[in-house]
Amino acid sequence: MAKKEFKSESKRLLDLMINSIYTNKDIFLRELISNASDALDKIYYRSLTDKKVKIDKENLEINISFNKEERTLTISDNGCGMTKEELEANLGTIAKSGSLAFKENMTKEEKTSIIGQFGVGFYSAFMVSDRITVNSLSIDSEDAYCFESEGVDGYTIKKVSKDDVGTEIILNIKEDNEEFSFSKYLDEYEIKSLVKKYSDYISFPIKMECVHHELKDEEKKEYEDIKEIETLNSMIPIWKKNKSDVSDTDYENFYMDKFNDYDKPLKVINSSVEGMCSYKSLMFIPSHAPYDYYTQEYEKGLALYSNGVMIMEKCAELLPDYFSFVKGIVDSEDLSLNISRELLQESSNLKLIAKNIESKIRKELEKMLKDDRESYMSFFKTFGVQLKYGVYNNYGADKDKLKDLVMFYSSKHERLITLAEYVNEMSDQQENIYYASGASIAKINALPQVEQVKDKDYDILYLTDYVDEFCVTAIQEFEGKKFTNVSDGSLDLETEDEKRETEKVNKDNSDLLKAMCEKIGEVKEVRFSKKLKSHPVCLTTKGDVSIEMQKVFDAMPNDMGIKAETILEINEKHPIASKLKDLYKNSREDFDKYTEILYSEARMIAGLPIENPTEISRLICEVISK
Ligand code: ADP
Repeated sequence: MAKKEFKSESKRLLDLMINSIYTNKDIFLRELISNASDALDKIYYRSLTDKKVKIDKENLEINISFNKEERTLTISDNGCGMTKEELEANLGTIAKSGSLAFKENMTKEEKTSIIGQFGVGFYSAFMVSDRITVNSLSIDSEDAYCFESEGVDGYTIKKVSKDDVGTEIILNIKEDNEEFSFSKYLDEYEIKSLVKKYSDYISFPIKMECVHHELKDEEKKEYEDIKEIETLNSMIPIWKKNKSDVSDTDYENFYMDKFNDYDKPLKVINSSVEGMCSYKSLMFIPSHAPYDYYTQEYEKGLALYSNGVMIMEKCAELLPDYFSFVKGIVDSEDLSLNISRELLQESSNLKLIAKNIESKIRKELEKMLKDDRESYMSFFKTFGVQLKYGVYNNYGADKDKLKDLVMFYSSKHERLITLAEYVNEMSDQQENIYYASGASIAKINALPQVEQVKDKDYDILYLTDYVDEFCVTAIQEFEGKKFTNVSDGSLDLETEDEKRETEKVNKDNSDLLKAMCEKIGEVKEVRFSKKLKSHPVCLTTKGDVSIEMQKVFDAMPNDMGIKAETILEINEKHPIASKLKDLYKNSREDFDKYTEILYSEARMIAGLPIENPTEISRLICEVISK
């Protein structure tokens, strides 16, 4: 029979698997057991909703057997099984979503990290086997099929006979070599301890025929081998165990196994609620963002169990979008199993649980921020953007829940701080929370507008993420202090005397300023100001839309035509001011050229594009060659 080729990405991944980039080969067993357990969950759930499917829950189980002579290890289950198409789709392809972007020269760690983020469960068995045979009869099929593969070469699928619904996976264990003794996977004691270590919580019995030596004849000291079927796992889900019986490593292993992560979670959140609707939950904050986290493909949600039985793999209703990075499970006895998923999603108990879960996660994050800043910083670096989104989403409906959790870079501290920390350090004279936005810390530092605020010894929050300004605009004020953009035209830091002086200069030169404004066309106003210390010009804005916000709108696929209203400010103390006055009187032609050059400079400093760069550089050359 012709061999089918694995999809090319799967092939590369397989290659890496076989060449064991994972140092821990043991995990293959827990991966296969996990899959078997999922298949048992599926058939059980089907039986509740589909009258044609009749099963006895007591009989659902996973079996392990081995044969030292033939070097086979077999894992079987009486779960839902796979149809021919499913065998092909599930085992013939690895990367179900996205593509595996392996690059040349990647380090082993980088490769492991990419692989770790895909559900490579089944493929891990190739680390320990030369050949894998999967016999499966699906609950939805008349015929059973056999999938067989020796690795990268490809696989075959053929019809076989199999009486019972379920799946049987036969591994041909590799021969031992100098580096590794694969025979350990054919050893009763080893298998038992691997199951205990990684799969103890699986809620279905994992059975194996074990051998005991029993004393047959006391006098002659004769022993006899007694064979007996043993259940190797305690079957108590980890979240139902006493907390004192579960170690941190147990939680971490459970997380890595269940949620396909190669890294430990940053935080484990455990809770048990008794009341109107009782439930237990075990949640995790990952230490890094899943590879698809910031894409459309990412699905949020917690696994939902009803008394130990999984009823939904990802229940989205349990998590608000701003906590979509949380992984975990919720187990409640107060959810009806027999209702459809649509009705379940509407159920008031589910809504109640979701509300509690939201506040639990929030409290844990607040605690982390208070007690373990280092972890919080690491969390915020990874998922902070999501929280900031949460602040302004839904027209800021959730901002009060999240405003204590967001952080911004402080110009004074040169690190991230919270809004509470900013406000606590404000002096009596300071009335507002100042912020400046730009593409990077260095770029913001170079903004002319920043100088004046720093001179007053006020701290400035530097907003470098494109969501930042939308976030602070949604918060509006914190402890009664308003957020103020240092580039806002109405920024008012001058003394009364200074203000009077500025007003006078602007009045005296109103014709000149009007002429500049008309020449430029795009700006709302041109004015002299004392805002600038050493810089000649800057752009400020009027109204709600800042320059940085306009850039975000401009980058959006559909142009909504939202524009910032800009003001060109000219440093009244700079020599350029008197030059302009002189030109306005004596040479209108040069005055126009200077106007254009100065406006382009201001745009450049604000990081805005210049429409006609060739013309502007020609103008500059013309002026400087005079
Ligand atoms: P993952 O479990 O992360 O989805 P795997 O490569 O381990 O990735 O498995 C791929 C798919 O194959 C599973 O999602 C499941 O649909 C199917 N599968 C694997 N093992 C079994 C099994 N024992 N019974 C039924 N389906 C299975």
